[in-house]
Amino acid sequence: MEQIMSLVKERDPEQREFHQAVQEVVETVKPVLDRNMEYRQQAVLKRITEPERVIMFRVPWMDDDGQVHVNRGFRVEMNSALGPYKGGLRFHPSVNLGIIKFLAFEQVFKNSLTTLSMGGGKGGSDFNPKGKSDAEVMRFCQAFMAELYRHIGPNTDVPAGDIGVGAREIGYLFGMYKKLSNEFTGVLTGKSLNWGGSLIRPEATGYGTVYFAAEMLTTRNENFENKTCLVSGSGNVAQFTTEKILELGGKVLTISDSSGYIYDEQGIDREKLEYIQQLKNVRRGRIQEFVEKYPGAVYTAVDPALDYNPLWAHKADCAMPCATQNEINKKDSSNLIQGGVTLISEGANMPCTPEAVDILIDQGVLYAPGKAANAGGVAVSGLEMAQNSMRLSWPREEVDNRLKQIMKSIHRTCLDASSEYGMGQNYLVGANIAGFTKVVNAMLDQGLV
Ligand code: GLU
Repeated sequence: MEQIMSLVKERDPEQREFHQAVQEVVETVKPVLDRNMEYRQQAVLKRITEPERVIMFRVPWMDDDGQVHVNRGFRVEMNSALGPYKGGLRFHPSVNLGIIKFLAFEQVFKNSLTTLSMGGGKGGSDFNPKGKSDAEVMRFCQAFMAELYRHIGPNTDVPAGDIGVGAREIGYLFGMYKKLSNEFTGVLTGKSLNWGGSLIRPEATGYGTVYFAAEMLTTRNENFENKTCLVSGSGNVAQFTTEKILELGGKVLTISDSSGYIYDEQGIDREKLEYIQQLKNVRRGRIQEFVEKYPGAVYTAVDPALDYNPLWAHKADCAMPCATQNEINKKDSSNLIQGGVTLISEGANMPCTPEAVDILIDQGVLYAPGKAANAGGVAVSGLEMAQNSMRLSWPREEVDNRLKQIMKSIHRTCLDASSEYGMGQNYLVGANIAGFTKVVNAMLDQGLV
């Protein structure tokens, strides 16, 4: 195990998030390798931690003032043992190869857990969409796709959204792909409804995160009725996590963006959620504006001098981190426990640091790692691909029911894998072992390629 970690670190010393994601998987699948000599003989860890293909490219574009900018584009095609590479595109200034590799690596196991036929990949750019005009975003997306189009395809690699890439960006990316390839195919998911998108895809990640949490609560004969929840983020995942919590009778106390967070003692109800959706999706404003409209709520700006996030220090029953990686550190997780939180379901990818996770699991918190809890998004992307192949679209109830069933099945799979290895109700171990075993067995079946 140490051997594989030092190899991964030596090869790419600066890719800290990738090391973190690999370390967690490698540690938790050790008992699987101990039981199966073939896995070691076939060097499965070495193979699974090395992307099948990495694509990096220049993205030159012009802003509204005629200034030329050059961003970096990435697509990491991590593993295709179970199907075409599948995973989102992230546009955010923090994006670099290490971040995309960590996300692609996580995606492989997540997609494996969905039971659908999807390999894992991820892509994106260090482009910052914040403050850009519509026309600038369109030109950037077109420039990005002018290179990416030659590497993707409905049976090869199917990108989707992630942070900074929503319906608008998917539209511009799809338009350019169609023009260059002269084909109308399901090459991207998260498309708009009237040209190939699936019902429930926008809601899927958030709904799925709550469905998974509800399953965890059921194991303790509990449900969301009157549960108080801390939610971070205010993008697509946070919005639909909030919506589903409300629908199941829970109360959402917080919501945030990269500048700060809102604490609303009265709870963010449907009307307030609609306001947030308008603010974030249409006006593209800052969450701070919420308190102008609802003065009962309190806004706290991010204080970079603090070594914890006060959002996680509020009293509540549940926490759904839906913002970004490593947003909950050791101190935050201690604060969460002190504040009474007994359930964490990760809507974001890797939002808890390894030290934070150790504390949560140690203290008996029901902890669902992102690769299980937020798999609903990519699962419905898989359903979008299926509908595109048939040139059909399923009704809302059908997609939602399938999503529910998939989340239930992921929950069951994690529990079964965890108890098979004597780890009780450890969803982290269960998700990694179950995701890993399926991918590795497929790789071995397909030979050394
Ligand atoms: N970006 C999402 C994720 O982290 C969705 C990917 C997809 O739909 O392909 O899983």
